[in-house]
Amino acid sequence: MKKNRIKDLSRAELEAALKEALGEHYRVSQIFRWLYKASVRSFGEMTDIPAPLRLALDSKTYISMPELLDLKRSLSDGTTKYLFKLEDGSTIETVLLPERSRNTVCLSSQVGCKFACDFCASAPFGFVRNLSQAEILDEVVFIKNANPGANITNLVFMGIGEPLDNYDNVMRAVRIFNDKDAFKIGARKITISTCGVVPGIEKLAKEGLQVELSVSLHSADDSVRSRILPVNKRYALKNLMAACKNYIRATNRIITFEYVLIDGVNSSGPDALALAKLLKAMKCKVNVISYNRISGSPYREPKEFAVRAFMKVLKDAGLNATHRKPKGEEIDAGCGQLRISRFEKEGAE
Ligand code: SF4
Repeated sequence: MKKNRIKDLSRAELEAALKEALGEHYRVSQIFRWLYKASVRSFGEMTDIPAPLRLALDSKTYISMPELLDLKRSLSDGTTKYLFKLEDGSTIETVLLPERSRNTVCLSSQVGCKFACDFCASAPFGFVRNLSQAEILDEVVFIKNANPGANITNLVFMGIGEPLDNYDNVMRAVRIFNDKDAFKIGARKITISTCGVVPGIEKLAKEGLQVELSVSLHSADDSVRSRILPVNKRYALKNLMAACKNYIRATNRIITFEYVLIDGVNSSGPDALALAKLLKAMKCKVNVISYNRISGSPYREPKEFAVRAFMKVLKDAGLNATHRKPKGEEIDAGCGQLRISRFEKEGAE
């Protein structure tokens, strides 16, 4: 009989499965703690679970874990990038970003991506499939195991894939990240980042979860945005801004807009003025980041003085805007870059 991954079950589904197995639905908290706090690899390690129940679980399910293919650690800031191989041979990347008071994991949500953003290292390889709930959870389970002293405090869905295009599995995983018996990571410490999938933003506004929403904006001009983010041809700025305003109204939360500065594309004075005008009077933060070069891309980061001038326009307009340098530059920490370098080495996946 084909076994299923136990980590693909929600809390309610596991409860129902336990009830069906031996009528022991109340064991769900214990099993969650073994799976997600202790990160066990086998049912045999669940020592306070009665043997008949362990056997019943083992007969129908298994405990998944991705295989580590490659790892790169930045000597300057400790950013660590993991390349994982999944059961079907697909590869995904996950990044650990350690900081003084927090450890953030940057998660992938899909194998490949269909949104073809022009500056993204993952885009040329197209879309393969969605990650399952278990595959998303296992990114954090593996990193927790590999870094026993590091308390994972924050999660960002900013790796490979568009999380709102894998809406159900991402939300199922978020609920387990949030669960007190699993990872116990507060919803406000979990960021969903979208390139601008309007129906997903509308759905998220009704979800009743306190997660952070981050929107990749990168231009306040439809023609420039459509060139670097093809999603804009489907959901133009007018629709995107309407969905964002509705999200802020419905959730009473702010949105973070991401803006990657690319020399000669979106980093001029008029670009900054257009951005300030677009976001005027909105409850938002603006996160400006200089472009992180990837091999083969014609794009370049702007010079320091241009970044300073851009930021001054935003600040003068009263926007809550910060500029940061990309982390892990020497380890190709931009999304999809480790996967790409392996492609280049091996020729194919
Ligand atoms: S930036 Fe994100 S949404 Fe755009 S192609 Fe890359 S992975 Fe997909």
